[in-house]
Amino acid sequence: MTSTQARHTRRAVLQSAIDAGARCATADPDLFFRADGEPQITWQARRAEAIRVCNGCPVRAACQELALRNGDGNHRVDDMVRGGLSGTELAAARTAQANRLTAAVDADRDTEGRLLDDLVIELRTEAGLNPDGRRNGGRLRQTEARTEQDLRIRALAASIRQIRTARRARAGWEVAA
Ligand code: SF4
Repeated sequence: MTSTQARHTRRAVLQSAIDAGARCATADPDLFFRADGEPQITWQARRAEAIRVCNGCPVRAACQELALRNGDGNHRVDDMVRGGLSGTELAAARTAQANRLTAAVDADRDTEGRLLDDLVIELRTEAGLNPDGRRNGGRLRQTEARTEQDLRIRALAASIRQIRTARRARAGWEVAA
């Protein structure tokens, strides 16, 4: 993998690291979010406890980077903890690293667009194949080869639909057109 490819797959790498090692996976999820109308005094105590959990988390750096890429945190609202930072600290870090984050988010978008292109090409190629060519030296019967091809086509179409729906939602479309 080239350094450019590695940069473009960064988001997925961060997410799988977090999925595998998040210390908060066994913690109370409410610890990390301020309840509606919660007084500052009780939130402060929980926020400190959440930050303590994060400080002992093996994937803290990955979690913080993904939170910054995702735009988590708000300058005006102190209501969450992610990657060992409060929401306001995340917002401040985003401002301080604005140029680097913009480039990273652009790279993430590029990745998704490129993946979409690849999947569409793969789907067209698969749909144009004669399933008999995949009979694996005659070991697969014709009906089995066709069933396998159908399954591959459906899986590719589902992946494409999922990505397009997410892209449209981000662009302001609630439902894929
Ligand atoms: S750094 Fe904190 S919020 Fe992030 S995965 Fe670890 S425990 Fe969870």
